[in-house]
Amino acid sequence: MTIMHDSSNPFPETVDRIFTHCRMATMAKGTYSIMENAALAVYGKKIAWIGPMDALPETLGTTWVTDCQNLWILPGFVDCHTHLIWAGSRAKEFEMRLAGASYAEIAKAGGGIVSTVRATRAASENTLFDLAAGRMAHLLTQGITTVEIKSGYGLDLESELKMLAVAGRLQKSCPQQVEATFLGAHALPPEFSDRPDDYIRHVTEAMLPGVKDQGIATAVDVFCENIAFSREQTRQVFEKALDAGFAIKLHAEQLSDSDGTALAAQLGALSCDHLEYLSLKGVQKMAAHDTVAVLLPGAFYYLRETRVPPVDSLRLMNVPIAVSTDLNPGSSPVHSMTPVLNMACLLFGLTCEQALAGATIHAAKALGLADCKGSLAPGKDADLVIWDVDTPADLCYPVGITPVKMVVIGGKTAYTRM
Ligand SMILES: [Zn+2]
Repeated sequence: MTIMHDSSNPFPETVDRIFTHCRMATMAKGTYSIMENAALAVYGKKIAWIGPMDALPETLGTTWVTDCQNLWILPGFVDCHTHLIWAGSRAKEFEMRLAGASYAEIAKAGGGIVSTVRATRAASENTLFDLAAGRMAHLLTQGITTVEIKSGYGLDLESELKMLAVAGRLQKSCPQQVEATFLGAHALPPEFSDRPDDYIRHVTEAMLPGVKDQGIATAVDVFCENIAFSREQTRQVFEKALDAGFAIKLHAEQLSDSDGTALAAQLGALSCDHLEYLSLKGVQKMAAHDTVAVLLPGAFYYLRETRVPPVDSLRLMNVPIAVSTDLNPGSSPVHSMTPVLNMACLLFGLTCEQALAGATIHAAKALGLADCKGSLAPGKDADLVIWDVDTPADLCYPVGITPVKMVVIGGKTAYTRM
């Protein structure tokens, strides 16, 4: 797609910054939407104009110009599903699993999610913040400009609020946009063992009002699964969350088909995530309610799963497909988007174009941010990455390099190797 020099796309009178001599995959409408020999102008924090180089005025005066030297510009990656705030390490558990230890043996040795809960509860807010800020700084070098972060390793009111307070500090201190999600219904804490209904009552009656008062989380998530919470328990959390004005999203159909997706879609969830065991009925519900399917190939890979999500059905029914790191210490310690793109292509059968749309425009939609993030268009936030690649597929094809030249967030250079 090339915008011709015409009066319907005039260069704006006032701009702050111009990126010249670039190739662009704008990812508009979920396709590459390529423009060659193009330029992009920023005013304030927004993209003011995109067009061909020959439409630039002859003099740019004192405007800040970044010559992209024919490199590629894509929208910054939106990582729409992470558990980025945690303390402790699960490396020993990884070794135990490789040596053949069962889930029960790992739990008996103090491993599993309970070990992350224990370490996260014990850590001070400052310690958690330092750990998380380091991860955010690394994600920036990987071209990730928006990050969703879930609570869910506290599992009591005080510790969940502590995690969300850390997310609030990251919102203020990191260049990336941070979207915080309350995931109190992530796992059953030890003090409620064998009493899941009591815990769900605690989540809805004590924790949700506290999270609402704190004012940092904008969405509520639930892990609906046979090892976590039932469809009925999920419904109880969602109904209270919606009453309180939160958006909702779901960890669904990862290890079995609990039919949580249909429930979440009907209730207007932004996204349903994982989806390896999603049924055709679930796909139809997602299509009918415009729910985003977030695929998490990192967790599939680390858990050595074999059943892949129904990508063909999702495509056929035009369900928007996003991809995300699922960054977490147990099942997806993946601190970069490019290997996720690679896994989405090789493990789940996405095309490179679909994987890149999944990490940009569809991921933005999964966070309710499609009007301001995820593609390059006038009026959207000037969140973009300059990549030293020959073609956008180079972001999906190799593993172990992230050829970032510059990360721009809100029009400002947030990271550069130029
Ligand atoms: Zn998750």
